[in-house]
Amino acid sequence: KKNLIIFGTRPEAIKMAPLVKEFQKFKDNFETKVCITAQHREMLDQVLDFFEIKADFDLDLMKPNQNLYSLTGDIINGLKPILEDFKPDYVFVHGDTTTTMASSIAAYYSGAKVCHVEAGLRTNNKWSPFPEEMNRQITGRISDIHFAPTKASKVNLLLENIKDENIVVTGNTVIDALLESVSKLDSVYDSEIENLKQLVYKNKKLILVTGHRRENHGQGFINICKALKQIAEENPNTQIIYPVHLNPNVQKPVYELLESISNIYLIVPLSYPAFVWLMNKSYLIITDSGGVQEEAPSLGKPVLVMRDTTERPEAVDAGTVILVGTDSEKIVAETTILLNDAMHYQKMSGLHNPYGDGKACKRIVEYLINIDDLKG
Ligand code: UDP
Repeated sequence: KKNLIIFGTRPEAIKMAPLVKEFQKFKDNFETKVCITAQHREMLDQVLDFFEIKADFDLDLMKPNQNLYSLTGDIINGLKPILEDFKPDYVFVHGDTTTTMASSIAAYYSGAKVCHVEAGLRTNNKWSPFPEEMNRQITGRISDIHFAPTKASKVNLLLENIKDENIVVTGNTVIDALLESVSKLDSVYDSEIENLKQLVYKNKKLILVTGHRRENHGQGFINICKALKQIAEENPNTQIIYPVHLNPNVQKPVYELLESISNIYLIVPLSYPAFVWLMNKSYLIITDSGGVQEEAPSLGKPVLVMRDTTERPEAVDAGTVILVGTDSEKIVAETTILLNDAMHYQKMSGLHNPYGDGKACKRIVEYLINIDDLKG
C-alpha cells in the first residue's frame, strides 16, 4: 500500500514525525512518502532536521501576509499533481490546520482513503478556535479512518454519527515524539541547549511561557504580558523564559511590554529538542499551546492554559492543567499558588498524563496492517 503523509506547521511535524518513522520500519507493507505544504517554514524545517526526515514533496507555500483563501486554494492545487502521480492508497493528515482541511479535500477528490490523526477534538463552537474548529470538523466529515487520541475524542466522533468501527483510540502521537526526544537528549550535541545552559539559573524557579493563538491576538496578549510582568516583579526568585512565536501579532506586544524586565528572558523559538530540554528544567509552564499541555504532564510539569475554551477537556478533568484564560488577575493568582503551595504543586505534578503512553504510532500502523490482512 502507498501512504502519503501531509503536514505544514511545526506542531503537525512534531506529531507526524514519529508516524513517518514507524511506517519506515514496515517498508515491505508500505511505501511511505512525505509531503510538506510549509504553511510555516522555519519552525517546520527544524523539526524535520531533528527527526532526520526528508520531505519527498515540498509545496513551499509560506508567503508574507498569507491568507486563508489563497492558502486553501494553493494547497488543493499543489497537491493535485502529487496525488495524480503517486496515487496513494492512504493520505494521512493531522489535527486542525488549513493544511489538514485542504489536504483532506484534495485527497478525497483523488479517491484515496483519508486517515485523520488526532481526530475528534471539538469545542463545538464554529468560531472558536477559528479556523481550527471548522478545519477539524470538515476533516472529520471527509475522513475514512479516525485515529482519536482519547476516549473523549472518540465520543465526539460517535456523536457526529461516525461509525465506531472507523475510530481507533491510540493516544496522542506527541507523546511518542516527546519520549523519543527525551531519550536522545543526552546523546545529541545541540548548540541551543548549550546556550540555554548559560541562561538558566539553578537557584531560581523557572517559568516557561509560550503563546501564539489567533484568539489571543490583541487585548489577550496585552493582558498576558501584564500578568507576566507582575509575576516577575513580585517574585524575584523566579526566572521567566519565553520563546516568542514569530507571528508579528505576538512579537509586537511581547517585546514592547516585556523586553525591559530583568528576570524575563525573551528568546527566539527553540528547536524541538531544546524546547523539550527547557520544559524538563522548568518549574511550571504557562501556555496557550495545545501540544505543550499534552506533553508537560509526561514530564511532571503543571500547566496554566491561557484560553477560555478548550478542546482538551481530559487535561482539565485529570487536573494536569488549569484554564486561566487571558485574565491577568487569574494568571497571577494561579501562578502565585503554584509558586508558594508545595502540596498543591506536588499533587499537580504527580498526575497521570491522559494523552498517552508513547505507543500511538505503533497502534496506527498495526491497525492498518491488520485491516489489510483482513481484506486479504
Ligand atoms: N515547541 C517547540 N519550540 C518552541 C515552542 C514549542 O518545538 O519554541 C513545540 C512544543 O514542544 C509542542 C509544539 O511545538 O510540541 C507546539 O506548537 P505550537 O504551540 O506552535 O502549536 P499548538 O500545539 O498549539 O498547535
